[in-house]
Amino acid sequence: MNVAQNRADFRSDTVTVPTPEMRQAMYEAKVGDDVYGEDPSINRLEELGANLLGKEAGLFVTSGTQGNLISILTHTVPGQEIILESESHVFYYEAAGAALIGGVQTRTVPGMRGAMDPATVEAAIRTDNIHFPSTGLILLENTHNRAGGAVVPISNLVSLAAIGQRYSIPLHLDGARIFNAAAALGIKAKEIASWVDSVSFCLSKGLCAPVGSLIVGRKEWIARARKWRKRLGGGMRQAGILAAAGIVALEQMIERLPQDHDLAQYLAAGLAEIPGLDVIPPETNIVLAHISDSRWSASQLLQRLAEEGVLATDFGPSTVRFVTHKDVDRAAADRAVLITGNILKGDF
Ligand SMILES: *Cc1c(COP(=O)(O)O)cnc(C)c1O
Repeated sequence: MNVAQNRADFRSDTVTVPTPEMRQAMYEAKVGDDVYGEDPSINRLEELGANLLGKEAGLFVTSGTQGNLISILTHTVPGQEIILESESHVFYYEAAGAALIGGVQTRTVPGMRGAMDPATVEAAIRTDNIHFPSTGLILLENTHNRAGGAVVPISNLVSLAAIGQRYSIPLHLDGARIFNAAAALGIKAKEIASWVDSVSFCLSKGLCAPVGSLIVGRKEWIARARKWRKRLGGGMRQAGILAAAGIVALEQMIERLPQDHDLAQYLAAGLAEIPGLDVIPPETNIVLAHISDSRWSASQLLQRLAEEGVLATDFGPSTVRFVTHKDVDRAAADRAVLITGNILKGDF
């Protein structure tokens, strides 16, 4: 039934397959036409997501990428500039959708473990000048993927929120893994969300739903976002089949995320013992390992690992990323460590 289960697949938490409870809930889901607002499962999921994040309303979207794009479209007008971190997912991995479809220019600011320096952000805000675009949005990411699942501290959000307020610029949080950030901080996700105007978060990563993300924000903002979703072709009719799994994700899967973080610690400790690897201590469920042995590139190592049934991804020419999730365990981590060690030692 589920193809991925007997591999040590550390490529991403997106590879997680739905739980039996999700499949049962999908089978039994009450549905209606969501474009008419008549799908009870979608309505319930959107309400649940908004409540969890402490916002007025929610919108089910097809993916995290669509959630971020709709959020940018709803916050800005074409010709504006948005400020975001230089390695952020929106800038790095969303195929320039903000520029292409939103008509906005991106202004990147370097981060420290994913956190943008507030003074640098403030300096990047455009003044009123005939030559300049106006700044339409400040976009944050927490946890920060390319910084290795780094948790952006609340103090940073507080400072950025104050700047947003001072200049009347909205804040959007790409919270694809916001529940991982909340688990690591030992707080509720709504405490993170309280510093921003809108949040997008994924149901289909560590929370194991098969499809979908939610965006949340003020009621009037979500109403405008809903129209953008329709324009982009994201009005999905009896999508309650999908929402049913999302409800299970929010009700049952958030509390198990610390297990993924523990497994990341376990995996990182094992990898750190291998000569030729520098491992960044993980804060959540992502482990970045830099290959210091110049005989190996990330792609060469990944290819050899894949031949032995261990999957990971490259994060630059000499960095590999391992992501922990529900469908890998200590045995898979042990295997990843053993095989990585053997490859780098030259034993295979
Ligand atoms: C995965 C991810 C997204 C995009 O989610 P998709 O559902 O894959 O489109 C956005 N932001 C971050 C930080 C992510 O990790």
